[in-house]
Amino acid sequence: MREICEHFPDAYWRKLDAERAYPADFVRALTDAGYLAALIPEQYGGAGLGIAEASVILEEVNHSGANAGACHAQMYIMGSLLKHGSEAQKSRYLPDIASGALRLQAFGVSEPTTGSDTTQMRTMAVRKGDVYVVTGQKVWISRAEHSDLMLLMARTTPIEQVSKRSDGLSMLLVDLRTAVGNGLTIRPIRTMMNHATTELFFDGLEVPAENLVGEEGRGFRYLLDGLNAERILIAAECVGDGRWFVERATKYAKDRRVFGRAIGQNQGVQFPIARAHVNIEAADLMRIRAADLFDRGEPCGAEANMAKLLAADASWEAANVAVQTYGGFGFAEDYDIERKFRETRLYQVAPVSTNLILSYVAEHVLGLPRSY
Ligand SMILES: Cc1cc2nc3c(=O)[nH]c(=O)nc-3n(C[C@H](O)[C@H](O)[C@H](O)COP(=O)(O)OP(=O)(O)OC[C@H]3O[C@@H](n4cnc5c(N)ncnc54)[C@H](O)[C@@H]3O)c2cc1C
Repeated sequence: MREICEHFPDAYWRKLDAERAYPADFVRALTDAGYLAALIPEQYGGAGLGIAEASVILEEVNHSGANAGACHAQMYIMGSLLKHGSEAQKSRYLPDIASGALRLQAFGVSEPTTGSDTTQMRTMAVRKGDVYVVTGQKVWISRAEHSDLMLLMARTTPIEQVSKRSDGLSMLLVDLRTAVGNGLTIRPIRTMMNHATTELFFDGLEVPAENLVGEEGRGFRYLLDGLNAERILIAAECVGDGRWFVERATKYAKDRRVFGRAIGQNQGVQFPIARAHVNIEAADLMRIRAADLFDRGEPCGAEANMAKLLAADASWEAANVAVQTYGGFGFAEDYDIERKFRETRLYQVAPVSTNLILSYVAEHVLGLPRSY
């Protein structure tokens, strides 16, 4: 991974960031080397590795100064298809996803009016003969313009007609190559970092009924099933970011001389860097623990969530420390600190916000009353 990443230095990412352009060459290189197929079983043409190994791949992407946000989803979105799809769907799609001939790296869940309260989503998929007719709107759907397929969450039974609000949601595989212009419009959203995110408008899009993943109405359970993998992989990316910030800050603190000595000789400069390092190492242990449980097939919801929270906090702390250590140069685009600072900030909010993780731990680990 390090050898591949060396071919994509800071200047490559800086230029893409300025242009808000997609890192097509980088994603192609990772795909060709087979890394994005790490989690696909060998029988479908993947590498058949565990989440621990997959997390090391993404950690190294971010550790190199790059941003795995452009491609991480190709690794894990297929997990829902693998776990809940029919044999026909798996043999039709997984080998092409493994080779990179097909990209499945968009997941349509979030909506503008419902926020973190996913079960309130309004996008409807109504069965009419051999198709589902989809109407509604999604927001923050990343990489949709760089994906052939998308997993879409939509309501198939109105919320008033279900006994549990998590019932009646379904997962559909949408072929974006034919959907765009035929009931689906994609509009890019410009964000503070280069993330290729979009909003989607569905106006009578027809999705073949055979593209339903699993059973109708059980999509919310399938969604939850995939979250632990996502949490662990994002935690690893944050660990990679954190290491990058600490390494850069350490080097700069050794090299930069002010008042006749290296700034890193001052405890006021070195202690924050040391503390950031300690917190990254601690977060990394939780990520390894979560990955280990996941790969042994044991429950890991608490550990995966805690790893994501600790790692996102540690990388954000390290980002702040790096800006402070660089002084004015921390704000200059040429040093890349400000770019990575913007990139790692996302993980306090997405794919799940820190508050929602704390709510999970309070309720499911500590047994406190549900707060929402
Ligand atoms: C760059 C980017 C890429 C994304 N990519 C995708 C994607 O590919 N697919 C997808 O489906 N979504 C994606 N998202 C959406 C992301 O998952 C959501 O932004 C995130 O889950 C938070 O939801 P929200 O933005 O609606 O915030 P809200 O739910 O409106 O929350 C706003 C604030 O209120 C807090 N809050 C809300 N409820 C509570 C509560 N009960 N207790 C305490 N605090 C609370 C939250 O912590 C947050 O700080 C992306 C978002 C971004 C910014």
